[in-house]
Amino acid sequence: MIISGKELAASLKGEMAAQVATFGERYGRVPHLAVVLVGEDPGSVSYVKGKAKASAEVGIRNTTIRRPDTITESELLALIAELNADDGVDGILVQLPLPKHIDSARIIAAIDCSKDVDGFHPLNVAALWQKQPCVLPCTPKGIIKMLKAAGVTISGKRAVVIGRSNIVGLPVAKLLLDENATVTIAHSRTADLAAVASQAEILVVAIGRPRFVTADMVADGAVVIDVGVNRDPESGKLCGDVDFAAVEGKASVITPVPGGVGPMTICCLMENTIECFLRKMER
Ligand code: NAP
Repeated sequence: MIISGKELAASLKGEMAAQVATFGERYGRVPHLAVVLVGEDPGSVSYVKGKAKASAEVGIRNTTIRRPDTITESELLALIAELNADDGVDGILVQLPLPKHIDSARIIAAIDCSKDVDGFHPLNVAALWQKQPCVLPCTPKGIIKMLKAAGVTISGKRAVVIGRSNIVGLPVAKLLLDENATVTIAHSRTADLAAVASQAEILVVAIGRPRFVTADMVADGAVVIDVGVNRDPESGKLCGDVDFAAVEGKASVITPVPGGVGPMTICCLMENTIECFLRKMER
């Protein structure tokens, strides 16, 4: 079974659009997402466009604020402070990566955590690890939604997450743990990665290496979630971290790239923006 993140996201966005359509009457306005894009990196420009398109589909107001990559850290901090203070802005997203002269951690920490729609603010991260209410990071949240929509039982399963980044590997491992999976986190120093990965009943791969996970690393019947977004060095086309053609026949459930985790990430960003808006309106 191939889980289409694209189809699931389209259906969830349809539900959100119906919900947002009631907000004008109830709250006098719709949620407002401010996206800050620094520089011209083509990948970032395309992600930001995708976020604006999804916002339009759901009925969320989206303002994309573009700044040149020569912006200083203090100028960017001043922009964040302005957006924090603006009562008409419900969500703030700073598109990563930022230019090297800017400390991303400092910028993320400067965002008002009640407007942190990416769920990257240290207070949101702390709340996640303490099982407190928080804004969940979009990609891990989308992965859990996909597993549930596909009818995958997570509780009691052996899950292996390859990758330990702050934005994907670590939080998805925590969410799987919260769903009562028994979780192993593997990384670039893991000894005999193939042996570890092939123990997984649920395998989540987030490493950023084109088609790195081959059939010998996957158990028969495993559920395989491919987070990677890479350019195939030969064809130049998008591909995941999993060798889809080789693994598809072995996995019971697998996500494609493109059309898998990516659309669900954007869908969860929309959901987080609505959540931040509603929390503010109902305070
Ligand atoms: P990252 O910050 O570069 O982290 C990569 C992780 O993979 C690190 O923990 C690294 O281990 C591990 N790793 C690298 N090479 C490895 C190897 N050969 N064997 C085992 N582990 C290895 O990347 P990220 O931000 O998590 O993103 C990972 C991928 O997901 C990228 O392709 C990115 O574009 C994609 N992504 C997609 C979405 C989406 O919505 N679809 C969202 C976010 C990211 P060490 O810690 O030991 O270095």
